[in-house]
This record gives sequence, C-alpha cells and structure tokens, in this order.
Amino acid sequence: MPSSFSFELIHTSKKSRARVGRIHTPHGVIDTPNFVGVGTNGTLKSLDNATVHNIGLQLMFCNTYHLMLQPGTETVKKAGGLHSFIRRSLPIITDSGGFQVFSLAYGSVADELKSRGKKKQEKLVLKITEEGVLFRSYRDGKKVLLTPETSIQAQKDLGADIMICFDELPPYHIAGKDLKSSLDRTHRWEERSLNAHLQNPSSQALYAVIHGGINPDLRKASCDFLTALPYDGYAIGGSIGKNKQEMIEMLTLTLPRLPLEKPNHLLGVGDLESLKLCVPLGIDTFDSSYPTKAARHGVLLTKQGPLNITKSCYAQDTGSLEEGCSCSACKEYSRGYLHHLFKAKELVSMTIATIHNLHFMVEEMARYREKILRDEI
Ligand SMILES: [Zn+2]
Repeated sequence: MPSSFSFELIHTSKKSRARVGRIHTPHGVIDTPNFVGVGTNGTLKSLDNATVHNIGLQLMFCNTYHLMLQPGTETVKKAGGLHSFIRRSLPIITDSGGFQVFSLAYGSVADELKSRGKKKQEKLVLKITEEGVLFRSYRDGKKVLLTPETSIQAQKDLGADIMICFDELPPYHIAGKDLKSSLDRTHRWEERSLNAHLQNPSSQALYAVIHGGINPDLRKASCDFLTALPYDGYAIGGSIGKNKQEMIEMLTLTLPRLPLEKPNHLLGVGDLESLKLCVPLGIDTFDSSYPTKAARHGVLLTKQGPLNITKSCYAQDTGSLEEGCSCSACKEYSRGYLHHLFKAKELVSMTIATIHNLHFMVEEMARYREKILRDEI
C-alpha cells in the first residue's frame, strides 16, 4: 500500500460519467464513490470510534472550526494528532473552518432564503479582510484570526489525510460583480493555502474548493484557475443552488472541467436522492450529516425507503430493524424494542439507529460501485 496520497481510477461507466476508483492515503484506502461520515468534534454523534471502525466507514469528516475552539488544535497535536487523539486508524478529512465562520456571518442558504442569520454576524464575526476573518470564539469570547495560513497550520496540527483550502463562502443571493470579487479573493486564499501547505507537505493531501455559485461563467473560471495549480483533488463548494435542479445543472457543467486523474468531493451533500443524481455525474466522495441526523430522529434508512420507527405501528413489531440487514443492530434488536427506546427517550436508541444507518450507507455505496463496474449506472 502506498504511504502517500494517490488516486487510482479503476473503471468509468460506459453509460455515464460514473466512475469507480480508489484513494490511497497514509491511513488506508477509500473506495469511490463513497459516503463520508461527519464527525464534527472527532466523533460521529452517538457512536464511539471503535464502533465506526467496525461499521467499515472508510473516511470521516472532522471540522477544523470546532476542533480549533475545543479542545484546540495544539492540544490535539500534543496528543499525537487527530488519529491518535480520537483513536481512529482510518483516513480523516478536515475542512478549513471557513464554512462555519462564514455561515455565522451570512447564515446558511436556507436561513438566507428565509432572511435570517444576519444577527449572529454582529456578535461573532468581527472583520473580513484580504488577510482573513477575525471572529470571536462562541466558547470563551476570545478573538481568533482565521487565514489561509492559520487554517492550513491547524489542519497540519490535526494531521488530516486530506485537508481543504481556506475559502470564502459567499451569501447565496449575491451575484454579478460581488460574486466575482468574492471568487477572486477565494482564489487568492486558495493559492495562499497551497503555498502554506507546500512548505511542509508531509504526507497530507490538499483539495481546492471550486466556487462560483450557480453562475456558469464563474464556475468555469474557478475550474480553470484552480486546475492549473497542483492540488491533490477538488472539492465542489460554495452555494450549489437552492434546489436539486440548480445543483445538478451546476455539477453537469463543473465535473467535465475537473481532471479525471484526480479525486473530487461534493461538500455537504449526501442524502439518498442526491447520491442517485450525482453518482452518474462522476462525484467520488460525498459528506453529509443526513444519515446520522435522521437516525437521531428515529428515521431508519432501508432499501424500501426511510422508516420512522417512532410510529405506533412498530410498537408490537418483533421483526429486525431491516429484514436482511447484516449490521450489528439488526442482528440484535427488534423494531418494537427500538420503538420503545425512542419513546422512553433512552440515549442508546440513537446509537442503535445510527449504527444501522451508517451500515446502510456503507452498503449502499458498495452497491453503487458494483453497478458502475457492470455499466448499469
Ligand atoms: Zn441494520
């Protein structure tokens, strides 16, 4: 197994742009296309990392913003890096922290469409300049300066296998000149991120983030600018549209402009419908908190569609959570018991549902890979 980062393209479907590949990292292989679990604070909510390991989730997404503020990247570094600190031997990807800071400033797309999210900016984001973003920690009120250089340093301290460039997440509604100047600054920040990384590449990989909102010309310009630089892979971020149609149009235009020999990642998307739409476009990895969040609300993912275990029709159901599922939760527990645990608000209800949903995602992605290999997608 190679000790550094590389991407191996195994098969491209004859039917679409869907492809099967393998990302090699110092902590092991990620088969693609694949789902990336979100472990914001170094854990997938309600599971310990030994359980995550047993489920077979190959890549975990951790958030630099959260880890910077608690416990602090210095603390993680002293503990031997994130893998050692959280006891995970498999690959980890971290983001730059920019997304969370700018979400505080501008709110999410959903917030913005409802015209919310402005209030928080006054309190927490103090200044956005060419240098970076000055914000106040929500934990202790201390001022923190996040720049391309400090973000890369934080991700180096964490020791992620895959790091992401520091970028600006522009508000969804901006267009024209404002979006163009945000894109230009993002490109300058991403170039500075690359320079900071190349001073000490170690065996870490760095992904650029393609921006440009839903403006086709700016997306093209972003692909042209960033693919001319030696990044290890490309994430697709920024405002990817207010609905699936806008997202698909943007991705259809963006994907063919990315180098085939490098892996790509779609940031923050991983619901089942989006996977179905995006795998044929050639996306390699997806991160999303959807399966874990759904589990905590009692929604089990099954081949027949989502099943809400809190519904009274499951109270007397002695069948396993999903018939034919080989996960440890399905082997042990019945629908009736899990229904009862949710009704009784027992914490382990979330653990059991999360184990099943993550196992489902692992299996679902394996099914996608098999179908691509057979040119069925
Ligand atoms: Zn199961």
